[in-house]
Amino acid sequence: MKQRTYLDYNATAPVRPEIAAAVSTAMAAPHNASSVHSFGRDARRMVEDARVQVAKLVNAPPAQVIFNSGATEGNNTVLKYFANEHILISAIEHPSVLEAAPMAEKIPVTKDGTLDLDALEDMMKTNSSPVCAKEGPPALVSVMYANNETGVIQPIEKISKIAKRNGALLHCDAVQAAGRIPIDMTGIDFLTLSAHKLGGPQGAGALVLGLCGITPSWLDGGGQEKRARAGTENVAGIIGFGLAAELAVKYQNDFQDLKKFQDKIESSLKKIAPEIIVHGVETKRLVNTSMFSLPGALSETLLMAFDLEGIALSNGSACSSGTVRVSNVLKAMGVEDIIAAGALRVSTGWATTEKDIEAFLNVFEKIYVRLKK
Ligand code: PMP
Repeated sequence: MKQRTYLDYNATAPVRPEIAAAVSTAMAAPHNASSVHSFGRDARRMVEDARVQVAKLVNAPPAQVIFNSGATEGNNTVLKYFANEHILISAIEHPSVLEAAPMAEKIPVTKDGTLDLDALEDMMKTNSSPVCAKEGPPALVSVMYANNETGVIQPIEKISKIAKRNGALLHCDAVQAAGRIPIDMTGIDFLTLSAHKLGGPQGAGALVLGLCGITPSWLDGGGQEKRARAGTENVAGIIGFGLAAELAVKYQNDFQDLKKFQDKIESSLKKIAPEIIVHGVETKRLVNTSMFSLPGALSETLLMAFDLEGIALSNGSACSSGTVRVSNVLKAMGVEDIIAAGALRVSTGWATTEKDIEAFLNVFEKIYVRLKK
């Protein structure tokens, strides 16, 4: 069987073995954290330990962490809570923000993929959009910490200052940033996290609350998570999330070593195909992400060609992979459709090796030579 190479960490990271072991052990016992018997009390203790671990990841008090099923839920919970308010969201948000707030006004980004701060300032003062549900100043601004497609890191501190100065709350989808760059809840009112981007299990995440005193909730029917998120806790998933958060903090410096792979990927791609365009290079990016376009090629075709050679990549947001569409992120950055249509993303992580990068580059060269024939 062909050797398979996984370079799609921004879609989901492989579960670290020690986390898989902890989740498996937790699943072997009947754990309902609301039960009063000893099994339930064991579960409660483990959930509370995980809360401390996740809180440390984002420098928040543990009591502000509400466990849920992941970032899609977290984003929907916040955006839908403000559905009748004037909301501003960045034009490069994940679909779980974009589609949860269809009436929101979009804040443009500059060519490098960072939020246009002047535009944000202006938009805080006016409600010029004909699609906005409500007149008046924005109640909520939602901007992601780091972009899932390009890895571009947003100036969250500056964005927070503008939002606060104008009386708005700030929501931040920190899924791709958590554990990869230091995150601080200061100035953020709602922050969404997901375990599976950190090497934890899928189906576990958290909404972390700042100090604005609002607790958005969505589901009815249970008093779990201090009534903030109804439904029996995913105890095993939460335990895995806690451990993933702890290990992400422990290995945060190691994560920066992925820069050597990013540099190698991008310089080698340019050598093989000088016409290649790497997106977001003019600004601060996550060191594990490279999004590039091969003009004239279609990303779906490239993806399949890589897959046939055992290399797993993505053409942007995994949630919309499988459908042909041009990335809203690249479109917002002003990238022409013809270039955006050929975009591919390589994303690395804790288990990536030099061999993986070489395998990717060899296959890229092979595909490129074939395309040029
Ligand atoms: N936001 C961003 C930026 C993401 O990359 C993802 C995962 N593709 C999500 C939200 C959704 O996360 P989850 O899979 O936990 O629902």
